[in-house]
Amino acid sequence: ADAPLADPLETLNPEQRAAACHQGGPLLVVAGAGSGKTMTLAARVAHLVLQGADPQRILLLTFSRRAALEMQRRTGHLLHRALGLKGTQAAPALPWAGTFHSVGARLLRESAEALGLSPQFSILDRGDAEDLMAWVRQEQGLSATERRFPMKGTCLSIYSRCVNSQAPLAAVLAQAFPWCAEWEDELKRLFKAYAAAKQDQQALDYDDLLLSWLLMLQEPTLAAAQSARFDHVLVDEYQDTNRLQAGILHALKPTGEGVTVVGDDAQSIYGFRAAEVRNMLDFPAHFTPPARVLTLERNYRSTQPILDASNAVMALAPERFAKTLWTDKASSAQPRLVTVEDDAAQARWVAQQILARREEGMTLKRQAVLFRTSHHSATLELELTRRRIPFVKFGGLKFLEASHVKDVLALLRWADNPRCRLAGLRTALLVPGIGPAHARRLLDAMDAASDPAAALRAYVPPAAAATDWQALATLWLALRQDAGTGWPGELQRIVDWYAPHLERLNDHPVPRLADLAQLVAIAGSHRSRERFLTELALDPPEAGSDTASDPLLDEDYLILSTIHSAKGQEWQAVYLLNVVDGCIPGDLGVGTPEEIEEERRLLYVAMTRARQHLDLMVPQRFYVTQQGRHGDRHLYGPRSRFIPDAMAAEHFERISPRADGALPTAPPAGLLDLRARLRGQWD
Ligand code: ATP
Ligand code: MG
Repeated sequence: ADAPLADPLETLNPEQRAAACHQGGPLLVVAGAGSGKTMTLAARVAHLVLQGADPQRILLLTFSRRAALEMQRRTGHLLHRALGLKGTQAAPALPWAGTFHSVGARLLRESAEALGLSPQFSILDRGDAEDLMAWVRQEQGLSATERRFPMKGTCLSIYSRCVNSQAPLAAVLAQAFPWCAEWEDELKRLFKAYAAAKQDQQALDYDDLLLSWLLMLQEPTLAAAQSARFDHVLVDEYQDTNRLQAGILHALKPTGEGVTVVGDDAQSIYGFRAAEVRNMLDFPAHFTPPARVLTLERNYRSTQPILDASNAVMALAPERFAKTLWTDKASSAQPRLVTVEDDAAQARWVAQQILARREEGMTLKRQAVLFRTSHHSATLELELTRRRIPFVKFGGLKFLEASHVKDVLALLRWADNPRCRLAGLRTALLVPGIGPAHARRLLDAMDAASDPAAALRAYVPPAAAATDWQALATLWLALRQDAGTGWPGELQRIVDWYAPHLERLNDHPVPRLADLAQLVAIAGSHRSRERFLTELALDPPEAGSDTASDPLLDEDYLILSTIHSAKGQEWQAVYLLNVVDGCIPGDLGVGTPEEIEEERRLLYVAMTRARQHLDLMVPQRFYVTQQGRHGDRHLYGPRSRFIPDAMAAEHFERISPRADGALPTAPPAGLLDLRARLRGQWD
């Protein structure tokens, strides 16, 4: 009754097969959306393992943790069938599949001693890094005296851009943040202090992980050891790597032997985070002899009309993307351009369509709603909740950004790394009666002491705080000594300690306690405290508490996602909200030409997620902001400039769901101008 052994390459077309079987030197597969790049990469890994490659020695780099898991699942499945394993027998796992950041963090921890790093270094996520930047900014007296000084988030973006593009501050300011150029000297001082603060606290932010990995590879002995450790290095979505990531790849495999990268230049959408599509275009010539380049031209994802419309959008780009895609999935159904009155009508209509399709047998999981920025789905979320349609949101407020989750993790991190001031401060301030001045005194004492635990024991809190402080101190010391509770028992202890504080601080503690229970459950799936903290800081799980119903209980749920987070994925039906100028592209016309082009590619990425049905929504009354000399002006955004009339007529079915077919009327423009002017007086 054994199923026949299945060759992982059996479903591949000849071009895909050539890529999957390629041997030796570097390989670039550059191909359009839905042409099977990711699938080919998975088949290649399975093929390599069957040919005798050691899975331990395969490094597979993906763009997100979700993508890494999906890749592991796919190769596992292929290997399972190829090896004729029985149901419960596990296929060889891929221990080194992950994002650049998570793999970097693991390698850095391994070599921490040699690098002069504490192996217990903490990882600051974006929120932590902003908090630290704000703190340093205050210490440097930049926030108090200079009222127009850039906000913490902007400071961090500038800093990050400098690190990721390895460009001098002045150049980054001139190119991407011209309105901050006057602060060059202050920013330099700030960044220096920020870097010093991270060092004091033995903390690395996301950018440090990549930079440190690259620096580690510039040390000959460590570099040699690492290069020798991996026989194959494969990278998906290579068009969205930045300079540091390309540097890491080149340092890891200088000759390109065993390196495979795949990508699509028409889908590069992370320029705003210093990704450089040049990495991919320059890849072949970087090596001698140059890398082999293969292309894939058949699209297996979408119907011809969806493909035609997506290609039409890219055909108007000033830059040429010379790729022809074809499919044999004919369909008479064109993508639809749906004009609705406003946000509420948009939400109603999308919800109705989703339910109608579910009636026809298309499960919620095979449908998705995409949008430009996270808050654009707010009205829809209410509508879905009202109609009891379960959904999960990607790319929104992450679970880990919720303050109660941060509180619990702060204590865990503080015990893990007593020098982490942010974690210490956050925890100490939870104790009623301990204020910032007292907390600072404690942290200073711990910093100065050779044994932080002794300093903590010696600390005398204000009298009112004595009992609560004692409970915290006892727990901290127990966590420090790993007092036999094991993992994730120690996290449960923190949650138990925290629960009364949560109830004191919050009117609605119950859903928050449920989040914390979920956190403990997630923790249970990680081997150790250290692995858990690393993974979480790098790629947090999706929010659980702000969804309409618990996806763990509901089998079927809808995906809501930002376009950025939808990369690489596909659904039977895709609804794209707010296809309006001022949204796609964002900021009415004020972007640089490169920024506008990145938005065009974003629309292309969104459209090419659809397999059978694609609806682009155009609300008539969608407020957008136009920045101008006299302050901001609010007006209704017209349909996205990326879909001009001729294209709309040729490639889309245009519908306007109001029964009478009449277009809703916009309020007179004069009223809006008047409002802007009244406000402008105060700008
Ligand atoms: P993107 O650029 O969006 O990341 P991609 O090039 O990585 O797309 P995949 O996600 O690998 O494309 O594949 C798209 C779809 O086509 C998947 O459903 C995949 O299973 C299917 N597919 C790819 N190649 C084949 C093939 N040879 N036969 C049948 N289906 C295929
Ligand atoms: Mg892909």
